[in-house]
Amino acid sequence: MGRDAQRMNILAGRIVSEVVKTTLGPRGMDKMLVDSLGDVVVTNDGATILKEMDIAHPAAKMIVEVAKTQDDEVGDGTTTAVVIAGELLKKAEGLLDQNIHPTVITSGYKIAAEEADKILDSIATKIDIGDEDMLTKVAHTAMTGKGAEKAKETLGTLAVRAVRQVAEKVNGGWEIDTDNIKVEKKTGGSVEDSKLIQGLVIDKERVHSGMPLKVKDAKIALLSSALEIKESSTDAEIRITDPEMLQRFIDQEEQMLRKMVEKIKSTGANVVFCQKGIDDLAQHYLAKEGILATRRVKKSDMEALAKATGARMVTKIEDLDEKDLGVAGIVEERRVAGDEMIFVEECLDPKAVCLLLRGGTEHFIDSVERALDDAIGVVASVIEDGTVVAGGGAVDMQLVKQLSEFADRQSGREQLAIKAFAEALEIIPRTLSSNAGLDPIDLLVKLRAEHEKSGKHIGIDVFAAEPVDMYKQGILEPLRIKKQAVKSASEAAIMILRIDDVIAASDLKGMGAPGGAGGMGGMPDMDM
Ligand code: ADP
Ligand code: MG
Repeated sequence: MGRDAQRMNILAGRIVSEVVKTTLGPRGMDKMLVDSLGDVVVTNDGATILKEMDIAHPAAKMIVEVAKTQDDEVGDGTTTAVVIAGELLKKAEGLLDQNIHPTVITSGYKIAAEEADKILDSIATKIDIGDEDMLTKVAHTAMTGKGAEKAKETLGTLAVRAVRQVAEKVNGGWEIDTDNIKVEKKTGGSVEDSKLIQGLVIDKERVHSGMPLKVKDAKIALLSSALEIKESSTDAEIRITDPEMLQRFIDQEEQMLRKMVEKIKSTGANVVFCQKGIDDLAQHYLAKEGILATRRVKKSDMEALAKATGARMVTKIEDLDEKDLGVAGIVEERRVAGDEMIFVEECLDPKAVCLLLRGGTEHFIDSVERALDDAIGVVASVIEDGTVVAGGGAVDMQLVKQLSEFADRQSGREQLAIKAFAEALEIIPRTLSSNAGLDPIDLLVKLRAEHEKSGKHIGIDVFAAEPVDMYKQGILEPLRIKKQAVKSASEAAIMILRIDDVIAASDLKGMGAPGGAGGMGGMPDMDM
């Protein structure tokens, strides 16, 4: 109750933040996650750590929720968001000690968060989808220190090319659905062997060995129903009185299957992807016609195939038309690390692509995938918004500076809270340097001075241990990372600070409890 409840909540939130804090930045440490079955994941990805952590405290869960929102909205910057939330709580504790009422703190935080958002907009730099060099730098920044260091060059280029390929122009802006970039992992080879497929890789094989292994200038039919004779759904009885009748019956079925295949053939299709089954006999006929066919293809793959090849999914074979067919330069079954896979390649301007990831071990590929995920997320945000900010603590220092100036212009009791909010943001450069084993106090003094002198792009080079121009250094981040991080961190901190009692309740499912279906979207109104 009262003070105790508040302190406990703040403490819980801060603990979560402390856990991930040491992983921030290119020189952050890793965490080893071990579950009750002994399975192990080693990672420094904030989103992964918080997702897998077994957390019971309700206020701590709210902080985890911050990470989740950040991951959904931007795909990177989870640690940043959580670290800021923790620091906001810590600063609030100081204010509470000075007997400042929580309501004053929260309303000061709210003003500060809104101002921070405006400041961020004003200090961002515009970039264009055509600026491959800049986009690659953004991808590299997101991947630094993620265990995929050596493959950064390869993966960065792949991520940029993949995102640009699936970007679609909508109302003059760009829209990117990163689900259209499929990542297919196969152990074996090295990361450098990873590649972007202008099309898709399907983890399936041909249904019949008589089918061609490779089809050039493929015309592709996508069938969502089975290539089989439907069994009657009601109980039907067929009386067969003599062998000839049985033969006729079989012949007729055969005839129907043959007709289906003929229909497919007549449209000019030479490749068939079927979402359901394909009858043995139909397989035989398809093989005879030289058509490559695959069955039981996942629905998501079917949709991606439609996007990549321009094909239209057809339910009834009778309706199949030449216009429904998609095209690809090559469809080929290849053996990758001992498994057969179907490659659909050389599609014309495909709106769905596939990244085939290779690497020595499963653990390694998984960490590469996490890094790549971040890279894809940031490149997509930058293309959609067209804005970047300088990383390495540069943008954070600028925020601290401008927000403090803003605080000085304010009067009233909120001023202290706004000032505290501004100071809290210094946590990013401070953590980046202490994680690198550097003296944060020393470095921060230098950083402040240099920042004052040379402007908003000055941040900390954690390898050289000195302030440098992050923009020139190519350490760039999407504006959206910072905006979202400040927004969700402050929302969570405010929400925790406003709680003065913790009450045991019966059943809150469906009311937007953290971890439930409501998520951050279900947060109560923040007006005050
Ligand atoms: P998050 O989960 O928040 O993305 P990361 O561990 O990816 O956490 O660290 C991101 C932070 O590291 C950002 O503040 C970014 O600017 C900074 N950063 C990335 N690369 C560098 C670099 N080469 N030098 C300094 N800071 C960097
Ligand atoms: Mg990151």
